[in-house]
Amino acid sequence: MYSSEHEVVIAGGGPTGLMLAGELALAGVDVAIVERRINQDVEGSRASGLHPRAIELLDQRGIADRFVSQGEKHYVVLFAGAVLDASDRSTRHNYTLALWQEKIERGLADWTSELAVQTYRGCEVTDFVQDDAHTVVALNDGRVLRSKYLVGCDGGRSLVRKMAGIDFPGRGPAISYLIFEAYMADEPALGMRHGERGVYALVRLEDGKRVRGVVTEQQLERGDNPAFEELRTALVAAYGSDFGVHNVTWLSRFTDAARQATFYRKGRVLLAGDAAHVHSPVGGQGLNIGLQDAVNLGWKLAQVVKGISPASLLDSYHAERHPVGAALLKQTLALTALNRGDERTNALREMMAQVMQMDVPRRWYTATMSSLDIRYDLGEGHPLLGRRMPDLDLVTAVGPTRVFMLLHDARPVLLNLGQPGDLGLVDKG
Ligand SMILES: Cc1cc2nc3c(=O)[nH]c(=O)nc-3n(C[C@H](O)[C@H](O)[C@H](O)COP(=O)(O)OP(=O)(O)OC[C@H]3O[C@@H](n4cnc5c(N)ncnc54)[C@H](O)[C@@H]3O)c2cc1C
Repeated sequence: MYSSEHEVVIAGGGPTGLMLAGELALAGVDVAIVERRINQDVEGSRASGLHPRAIELLDQRGIADRFVSQGEKHYVVLFAGAVLDASDRSTRHNYTLALWQEKIERGLADWTSELAVQTYRGCEVTDFVQDDAHTVVALNDGRVLRSKYLVGCDGGRSLVRKMAGIDFPGRGPAISYLIFEAYMADEPALGMRHGERGVYALVRLEDGKRVRGVVTEQQLERGDNPAFEELRTALVAAYGSDFGVHNVTWLSRFTDAARQATFYRKGRVLLAGDAAHVHSPVGGQGLNIGLQDAVNLGWKLAQVVKGISPASLLDSYHAERHPVGAALLKQTLALTALNRGDERTNALREMMAQVMQMDVPRRWYTATMSSLDIRYDLGEGHPLLGRRMPDLDLVTAVGPTRVFMLLHDARPVLLNLGQPGDLGLVDKG
């Protein structure tokens, strides 16, 4: 009756689904991905980099180098056009790594194939049901997969979220933007500027020929497949010229809509990444937060699937990650508002940029944009309770190491800083 059985099925093999699959595979879980795309090509450039916490997560699994070696390090964080020094963040990876989403996805896909994750490519999840013990997932090619859990990593329009009946409240779109990659016959006005309703930015792509641009539209427009004429109109309205735009290789539209799933878990169905939260790309956080969702969920789901922990452990995934998503939505709304170019907002943005150059706000903002400041609410206790484990240097009986080296297997690690074998003597100082 079932084509295959797995312990966990993940709908969607984007960055979040791939990261989650890797985490589960490391923990010895039989996990499969169902991915609509035949290969890992990403339409357009989308995410442009990784922030420190996401790089730390990759380092924890011993795979950071394969990404870092391909990207460019930037020791600054941008705030509404202002450049903030961020080189003093307390992490080995105190930089933003400029790396396009396609390369990030390819690196993750290579990792999951090394871990022998089964991937059903070129097919879609079309339906599922769940009962007390299983989920049964239907694919559009007629196959039926049975699993203990189904995770929707299937992006902002998540079918899994909709079919699970999980609400997705938030703010509808007020502003729309065209994003494109194209050739331009005339010399474009490269750089970023603020128009009445939002930003305009044109940069040269790596090939040195095409231009990647974001143009705020004069009024809210809808639809994923804007026409070439709409791009020309938006460019002329913004710059007074379309710079002879031609041979468009990618044209898409996004908005400032900000929505979040009310629950990240419903029974045996979970959501992660864009399936759980959508927002404007301003600030460049979506992919990074999706990777963190995946790592938070991965070990918990593995423990539950293996019968080591009760299913209630999964509720801590919602409790910890939902507030992070909610804060991100607010952050993107604030940055969207600050990106307007009317006189009052320009004055406010300049004032805020000055404030952000001051030491305390600068440290706060750069830590927030790196996700290094996250503190899960685990109740009263030590000030470090709920914070991330930093990559401390360790001196051990068998030589020096560092914490992240001990985390490559994605298994719990207990650091006994007392005498060997004597847990009662842990130094609390
Ligand atoms: C213009 C733009 C710029 C961005 N810039 C940044 C940035 O600088 N930094 C950053 O961190 N983020 C950025 N983002 C956001 C980032 O692209 C997303 O947050 C990220 O892709 C989310 O990953 P995901 O895996 O959760 O979802 P997706 O990337 O949407 O992946 C979902 C996957 O599920 C598959 N799928 C969907 N439905 C089904 C189904 N029914 N069955 C099987 N497969 C299915 C899809 O094919 C897809 O591969 C940007 C986004 C845009 C649009």
